[in-house]
Amino acid sequence: MSWRCHGNTNQELVANLQRSGILTSIAATHAMLQIDRAHFVPDGGSPYEDSPQSIGHGVTISAPHMHGYCLSLLADHLKPGMSVLDIGSGSGYLAAIFSLMVGENGRSVGIELIPQLAEKSIESIRRGPASKLLESGQLAIHVADGKMGFADAGPYDAIHVGAAAAELPKPLLDQLKPGGRMVIPVGTGFQDLVVIDKLLDGSIKKHVEMNVRYVPLI
Ligand code: SAH
Repeated sequence: MSWRCHGNTNQELVANLQRSGILTSIAATHAMLQIDRAHFVPDGGSPYEDSPQSIGHGVTISAPHMHGYCLSLLADHLKPGMSVLDIGSGSGYLAAIFSLMVGENGRSVGIELIPQLAEKSIESIRRGPASKLLESGQLAIHVADGKMGFADAGPYDAIHVGAAAAELPKPLLDQLKPGGRMVIPVGTGFQDLVVIDKLLDGSIKKHVEMNVRYVPLI
C-alpha cells in the first residue's frame, strides 16, 4: 500500500493516503490538505510523489506515507490545545501540520540540528497557513540536539522523532506527559517504529508498529 499514494496535486496525494487506509484521522487529513507539501520540497523535486525528497545537507523530507502513518498514530494526542514536540523537524512540514492540529491554544515545537535547515523550514512554513502560529509563538523551530528534548516547553502530549535513535533517549521519555504518546524509530540499520504510551500512573507501555528505515539521530 505504501509508496503508491502519488498524486498530481496536494489534494490528490492526501486523498490517496486516506483511501489506502494509512491516514485514518479526519483532523490530520484536514491539516494535511491545508499544508502544501510543495512549500517544503525544493524546486525541481516531486512534492506530490509518495517518496522522500532531498532537501539538502544530505537530508530528505520523509515520504508522505510515513508522515501519514505517524499522524494517524499520534492524532488522539494532537487535539486542540495540546502540546507537541517534533525532533529532527527537517523541512518543517510535520511541525506545521502539528501546529494546525493543536491550534492557537496549543503548542508545536520543532527541534533541528542543522541551522540552515531550521532557517529554511521557517521560510517554508511562512508560505502557508501555519505562518500565523509562527508569528504568535504557538509554533517554534529551535536549533538544538533533539536527544535532550526541549524541557522549556514540556511536558508534551505528543512527541514525534523523525530520525532513528540507537536507544530511546531518556529526556524524551521524561518530557512525555502522563497520557501522552511518543512515536520514535529505534535501532540501527533497519529500525523499529516504536509507539510509547505513558499511562496516567506514569508507567510505560510500548509496541512496535512496523519496520522502518530512517536516517540516524546524530
Ligand atoms: N520529519 C522530517 C525528517 C527529516 S530527516 C521531515 O520530514 O522533513 C531527519 C532530521 O533529523 C534531519 O533534518 C536531521 O538533520 C535531523 N537530526 C538528526 N540528528 C538530530 C539531533 N540529534 N537533533 C536534532 N535533529 C537531528
